[in-house]
Amino acid sequence: MFDTLSDRLTSALQTLRGKGKLTDADIDATAREIRIALLEADVALPVVREFIAQIKQRAKGAEVSGALNPAQQVVKIVNEELIGILGGETRRLNLAKNPPTVIMLAGLQGAGKTTLAGKLALWLKKQGHAPLLVACDLQRPNAVTQLQVVGERAGVTTFAPEPGNGVGDPVEVARRGVEEARHAQHDVVIVDTAGRLGVDEELMRQAADIRDAVKPDETLFVVDAMIGQDAVTTAEAFRDGVGFTGVVLTKLDGDARGGAALSVRQVTGQPILFASNGEKLDDFDIFHPDRMASRILGMGDLLTLIEQAEQAFDAEQAEKAAAKLGTGQLTLEDFLEQMLAVRKMGPIGNLLGMLPGAGQMKEQLAQVDDKHLDRLQAIIRGMTPAERADPKIINGSRRQRIAVGSGVTVREVNDLVNRFFEARKMMQQMAGRFGFGGGGGSKA
Ligand code: GDP
Repeated sequence: MFDTLSDRLTSALQTLRGKGKLTDADIDATAREIRIALLEADVALPVVREFIAQIKQRAKGAEVSGALNPAQQVVKIVNEELIGILGGETRRLNLAKNPPTVIMLAGLQGAGKTTLAGKLALWLKKQGHAPLLVACDLQRPNAVTQLQVVGERAGVTTFAPEPGNGVGDPVEVARRGVEEARHAQHDVVIVDTAGRLGVDEELMRQAADIRDAVKPDETLFVVDAMIGQDAVTTAEAFRDGVGFTGVVLTKLDGDARGGAALSVRQVTGQPILFASNGEKLDDFDIFHPDRMASRILGMGDLLTLIEQAEQAFDAEQAEKAAAKLGTGQLTLEDFLEQMLAVRKMGPIGNLLGMLPGAGQMKEQLAQVDDKHLDRLQAIIRGMTPAERADPKIINGSRRQRIAVGSGVTVREVNDLVNRFFEARKMMQQMAGRFGFGGGGGSKA
């Protein structure tokens, strides 16, 4: 996601590196590069214009700060402006004071509404809510069944018209759905509405009628991030025809150029609440403008990574390992523990993509897969505790034994041991650079 944009922005900013002082010409040249990068990413022209004007103005007027060199100062400005166009503060879902909270989903067919309904329901359920899905897409064949399937997977109830009993009116279904939620003690109702392939009047009228019938606390406009410039036109049509209180971007896992994400907030004035990045129900998260900005700028999404790490790692164990990093005492046993914890955080490719500089490491990343990690684990498990604690003792005959025991070749054992020593050396250097380890064990 945003790979090309990210690469272009990073290289635009890189040309400033190492300059002790920035001239107006330097800033203009960088601004030009950034402008091209944004336009190529399909960001709407008015948004690009304003962005560039802000960057130029702020960069030229920037006070020389003691802490940052001129290039870093420009990166900081670009980062702040990016956060700005993505919406600034993270906007949380509004829950009604008097439940049920009604959330209505609107958008074109194929935008990902039905999938999102399931994702949102699961997400709410995990937070202790009792959501009810309401199937008001009576247009698309199978839409009702699809919602029921998604609901089942999320473990939530779906309210749908009985087939064949003449309930063909989506407005009536929506109204009855909310009533049902009241009776059955559901505190959130998610209303899935019909979409069309293109914006049309009937679609808008139906959505507006549903809105009037159920008075949603949130109307979320669901938009496929891969549709580029069209996202803006569609968003404007929905804003004028139905009105919405927030945006959900879907398919951010595709090779989306990112224009929709960067334009929709500015053009419609409504915040992006959630991002969807895959077909599975938990490929979904709150949209954090600041994290997205640093991801786009190639600084990686460290906050997300840290949050996931905090969930997966045992704090005590992580602190122990961090303390060892700096002193070069990390053992293969620690390595195995960390690897197991990392595996709990999700597919390794996703995790590595969040690391700073990951944009430039794509080729290496492509080679890291979960199966490979499984083999590494098997090798470490084939070692004795003494070997894990002090890998230096792993000589030729031990390597042979480990290889046979874990069903791999001696070469793979060699690779692992060599890479462990390299990694330990690198971590020691990194620990020095970031100031952790060496006894402190400070977190994040
Ligand atoms: P609706 O017509 O708006 O209800 O759209 P659907 O929920 O049926 O989604 C259309 C297609 O997009 C389905 O094949 C979904 O599996 C897929 N889809 C939805 N969200 C995402 C996403 O975030 N990433 C990817 N890759 N596919 C998605």
